[in-house]
Amino acid sequence: MDNRFHMRQLFCDWHMPNFLPGIAFDLDDYFGNIARTGAECLIFHAKNAHGNCLYPTKVGVVNRGMGGRDIFGEVCDRAKRMGLQFIAYYNVILSFELARTHPEWQQVDQHGNRLLFVHYPSMCMSNDEFILHVSNQMEEIARGYDIDGFFLDLQYFDHRGCYCGSCQRKFKARYGYSLSPANLVTPHARLDFVDFKILMREQSMRAWQVRCEHAKPGLLWMWNHAGDPRFAARNLDRHATLMSGEAHPPEYLTADLRAGLMQATSAPFVLMMPESQGSWGDWTVTTAPTLKGLSALAIARGGALNVNHVPYPCGDYAGKVARPVWDVTAETLAWVKEREPWCTGKQPVPICACPISETNIKLFQALGGVPGTPYWDDHLATIASLHQLLSELHIPLGFFYEEDAPSRMHDYELVVLPNLLHVSDAFAHELRTFVEQGGRLLATYQTSLLDPAGNRLPNFSLADLFGVDFHAESPYSVSYLDRLDPCFRGAVPDMPLLIKDFDRGENPSNHALYCALRPGARPLGYLSDPVIESDFESERFIYHDHCPPGRCTEYPAIVVNSYGRGRVAFLPVPFLRAFQSGSLSRGRSPFLKEVFRVLVEDQLEVPRRIRVRAPASVKIMVTQDAEGWLLHLIHIQQESDSMYLDDFERIGPMEIRANPDWPVRSVTECLSGKPLSMGKDQGGIRFTIPSVRDHLILRIEKGVGTPS
Ligand SMILES: [Zn+2]
Repeated sequence: MDNRFHMRQLFCDWHMPNFLPGIAFDLDDYFGNIARTGAECLIFHAKNAHGNCLYPTKVGVVNRGMGGRDIFGEVCDRAKRMGLQFIAYYNVILSFELARTHPEWQQVDQHGNRLLFVHYPSMCMSNDEFILHVSNQMEEIARGYDIDGFFLDLQYFDHRGCYCGSCQRKFKARYGYSLSPANLVTPHARLDFVDFKILMREQSMRAWQVRCEHAKPGLLWMWNHAGDPRFAARNLDRHATLMSGEAHPPEYLTADLRAGLMQATSAPFVLMMPESQGSWGDWTVTTAPTLKGLSALAIARGGALNVNHVPYPCGDYAGKVARPVWDVTAETLAWVKEREPWCTGKQPVPICACPISETNIKLFQALGGVPGTPYWDDHLATIASLHQLLSELHIPLGFFYEEDAPSRMHDYELVVLPNLLHVSDAFAHELRTFVEQGGRLLATYQTSLLDPAGNRLPNFSLADLFGVDFHAESPYSVSYLDRLDPCFRGAVPDMPLLIKDFDRGENPSNHALYCALRPGARPLGYLSDPVIESDFESERFIYHDHCPPGRCTEYPAIVVNSYGRGRVAFLPVPFLRAFQSGSLSRGRSPFLKEVFRVLVEDQLEVPRRIRVRAPASVKIMVTQDAEGWLLHLIHIQQESDSMYLDDFERIGPMEIRANPDWPVRSVTECLSGKPLSMGKDQGGIRFTIPSVRDHLILRIEKGVGTPS
């Protein structure tokens, strides 16, 4: 069985309904083209979203259009003969067939209405009969075919549910009260419901895995969203061989963020990308530069890429995948293969990191309002703002799980706590040790101000690190950064700067925090209150949406505090959300970005290991191995108003200063082997790069001795 990690993967996402009179599949054309791509792994449908199977199942429903063929089996045989790793795709909860035969297995909302995933009925993962049905079908596949593993898609609870009979019974048995919207009003009860769904998902997935492992030991396991912190499923995800997430244009930064989040699990990961314009089932090919850009984001972090394709089922083009899809795929995979030696098996150079805390993710989901709040909530959106800021400043952002802090955190130069509501005692202890020993910390807003049940504490539990004590919440939904320290002069305009969490409506509930400075802490700016709190109903507002600044307060808006050998910057305002929302046009505030830059680069003096001056569209990643460092420069420039990436040479010069704790022997461009000239720079080196096209990889090679 081949359960190794392969970097170049393909996925045939062939969701074919059961009403077509015939579905065609041209095996010779298909495998001839797969050979052309140089792919190493193929994922192919056993059971699809419509609910039918592409093999003659005895457990469920066979796709009638196959006309007696076993397409899954034929593809499996050919793939294995070609030496490909072959993975069975199994769509877990979606099925029109089961909705007809077992309507009681469906997920339902609080009113008992069935919950559709897009157009598809979805089954509930707490239902024991459904769990058994899936076990039987997956075991049938594992026993019947020479598969190397499973890819499980659609194994989620709908965010609007589930209130089915099975969930009602199991929830009451576990928590002692009924699962009803009337009971889900306290943070505590909402946390129970969040936990319940995590547990039901974990139990059913493990049951399927154990049954299949019994039938065929050593299977590879992938499931969509393994390693995605939104699911708070680290217990479950430990049983996945590969973490897996989706990458869709034009969300390039989101794809990069997903890759970084999956990397935090330390397991191998793959970014799955549609071959089509923006998403699955567009039936129109994307461009090679777009696929290369998404691929670069995966491989620079050591991840794999998986490119989608689909044959036309019937009609004039029946049985074949369009030729341009194979062309683009072959071009992309060949491009990836060239870069592989400098991408696989490397470790990130620790520069800046953000902790992932499942306690906080669940807390945000529970506090996020009425039941039915989507998973993608405040916390990840705030982390996404941080990622955007750092990415524009060319500071690579890594992630680590809170419980891994003792082994993972201490090598980083800077740790950022982006509105991390609850900080456990154990993690607080690690943070203090980190800063005492010279680490730099940046925290925003309500960090450490809540207990694990979502109740506000009298003071920040990290008040000693922040150098301030919590006083009160500002009564105003808008605040201004004012009386900024001279260190910001020249970088930002000399006037009050608006801070508002726009995404929360006209009068957002995320207000700035009034804090009192502790002795020794340095304020680098103060809060200004607006003239009034706007009331749009009673005409009491000034000049549209945001009230102008009125009075400057003595409450700090930016604080820098020395602690041991380290330093801490704290912003008691919803800074990251204010940056991301920026203005009515949803632009991002260039001045808040400058405030952040001055704070990080000049006040906290990071990054020391590597500094890059380059256009914002150039993303950087730094990894290491025994020979030294690898600097990846990835050009992510969207065509104007388009979802595609632009394929042009971005002219620099881009200036790099590197300061490793070993002497640098040379800097070379990896693919061409061309050396770059370098100069000395304060114990390290400096060099310039004239331009970047798509993905440039530079080797900063380690010499012997100590740095000069
Ligand atoms: Zn249910």
